[in-house]
Amino acid sequence: MFKKAVITLISLLLASALLGGCSAGDTSSETYSDTAFMLDTVVSVKIYGVPEADARAAVDAAFSEIARLEGVLSSNIVGNGIDLLAQNAGTGYTELDYDAVYVLRKAVEYAELTGGAFDPTVGPVVALWNIRNGSGYVPTDEERAAAAALVDYNKILFDENGRVMLADTGMSVNLGAIAKGYIADRVKALLTSMGIEHAVISLGGNVLAFGGKPDGSDFVIGIQDPFGSTGEIAATVSVRDMSVVSSGDYERYFEADGIRYHHIMDPFAGAPANSGISGVTILSDKSVDGDALSTAVFVLGRNEGLELIESLDGVECVLIGSGGERTVSSGLKDSVVFR
Ligand code: FAD
Ligand code: MG
Repeated sequence: MFKKAVITLISLLLASALLGGCSAGDTSSETYSDTAFMLDTVVSVKIYGVPEADARAAVDAAFSEIARLEGVLSSNIVGNGIDLLAQNAGTGYTELDYDAVYVLRKAVEYAELTGGAFDPTVGPVVALWNIRNGSGYVPTDEERAAAAALVDYNKILFDENGRVMLADTGMSVNLGAIAKGYIADRVKALLTSMGIEHAVISLGGNVLAFGGKPDGSDFVIGIQDPFGSTGEIAATVSVRDMSVVSSGDYERYFEADGIRYHHIMDPFAGAPANSGISGVTILSDKSVDGDALSTAVFVLGRNEGLELIESLDGVECVLIGSGGERTVSSGLKDSVVFR
């Protein structure tokens, strides 16, 4: 088990290095970078163009902020606001931290925009399948239906004092599909306030590049090949001041009786989405938007997903279908290079 964890960590570190988008030739302009295991994934922050002591202080501050926000936004911490919200479901309002209320409001916006394909009240479905580290539970049809019946973003109630309540007993929220994006945006704001102008923040599949490189060139970000091993890339995109967020069926899943069950749920079915997509990458200004949209487009599938992305200003996507077919939104055709 320990050996498996070490191998997983090494693979993730390799993937993280790649997703950071820096080939060996880039290291001369890299001032400082560090990697940690947080948010149940590999997190790295690379700072360019400032003296090493400043970069080191900035990375330390970034990791502290990530840890703080993990405490506030995680669904796995007994006694935090997200846990109390579930405990008080159906009975009363809960006072939450500013960040949790902000992310919940954003999540409701995306639930509305996507007709519930993205829904932060998917908590009971996520808990039922309990997918982690290669293990999980295949529920009965009745169990799926019962969990799906508890999912309804319209039942997140906000009162005039900014407190929040889930209307029905048994409801819970899970912000796993949007929180990493929000955290990346907050870390960018923090680093900017510390005078950093060139950096790459990578939280698992969420990459936020700001500025370009100090030499004026773009950052090159790799997109994971859903059918390859971890770190094997299907395409690259060149970006500056851009979030690049990926969701896929290849990272978190378990297998039972020869069937692969992954972690992105169709909230209506109460089961892993089966939309014909294996990987979605969203490019956007803010990472919170890219994170919510990557999950939503995965659930919606190619046609509806692409239509949604084309309707939004400043948002682009790369889709890889379950049969390997590739789709790129209209604004991105010149900047993505497939391998
Ligand atoms: P995304 O597609 O961005 O998100 C998928 C995740 O969102 C799923 O894992 C599920 O949690 C949720 N989800 C599934 N379907 C939907 C849907 N239709 N609408 C909305 N949400 C959906 N993992 C652990 O194993 N243990 C931990 O303690 C833990 N703590 C975390 C704390 C924080 C603050 C965050 C952000 C993540 C944490 N994670 C933890 C990881 C988390 O559970 C998810 O697995 C991870 O965020 C998935 O991100 P992704 O980019 O791979 O996929
Ligand atoms: Mg997401």
